[in-house]
Amino acid sequence: MSQTTTTQITVGVLSLQGDFAAHASKLSELGCNVIEVRSSADLEQIRGIVIPGGESTTMLKLLDRNLATQLLKMIRGGFPVLATCAGVILLAKHVRRPEQESLDALDIDVERNAYGRQLQSSIASQLEITAEGKKTFTASQHSIEGVFIRAPRITRTGQDTQTLLTSKGDPVLVRKHNILAATFHPELSPGFSPVHQLFLNFISNNH
Ligand code: GLN
Repeated sequence: MSQTTTTQITVGVLSLQGDFAAHASKLSELGCNVIEVRSSADLEQIRGIVIPGGESTTMLKLLDRNLATQLLKMIRGGFPVLATCAGVILLAKHVRRPEQESLDALDIDVERNAYGRQLQSSIASQLEITAEGKKTFTASQHSIEGVFIRAPRITRTGQDTQTLLTSKGDPVLVRKHNILAATFHPELSPGFSPVHQLFLNFISNNH
């Protein structure tokens, strides 16, 4: 994966709740125009969207039906998405502990807050990279930090979903075509973010 020129790209960050501002900064650092998405009209201007971490129950309450329907249609049609933490919970097929509604945009199952109280927040200085991950990221990008905050655990991945990074054996970055889903927070690690760059590469390759 190489770094691409992203000056012309306008990317949206779902900005209903959570740490959308940190994603916006990362994307701006990579040269994107960033807009905050709150309604379905905002989707018309963007070429990809970030669904940030935060509190998935609150985000579900704030997500209006038009926006959810339009977004789901676009994602199913190949629109590039980067989901992190609560964003992954929103996209999953099944959500457990407790059961919760979700958009069913990505064929994975998740358990919320799965790492227990003592591990509600932790930093893995270097996530484990899988063979697929090694093919996806350039050698200089193989050392990726993982900031976990009350993270969900991905308990099942569907057939076409590739695992790119793991932590203690659990998938923590998965990809299915246009969708990139991280249970950690790449927007909170300092410096260059290979995960955001990969998402921007999806956009550049999506004509
Ligand atoms: N525990 C949160 C939830 O269930 C997710 C935490 C996060 O996004 N950092 O929505």
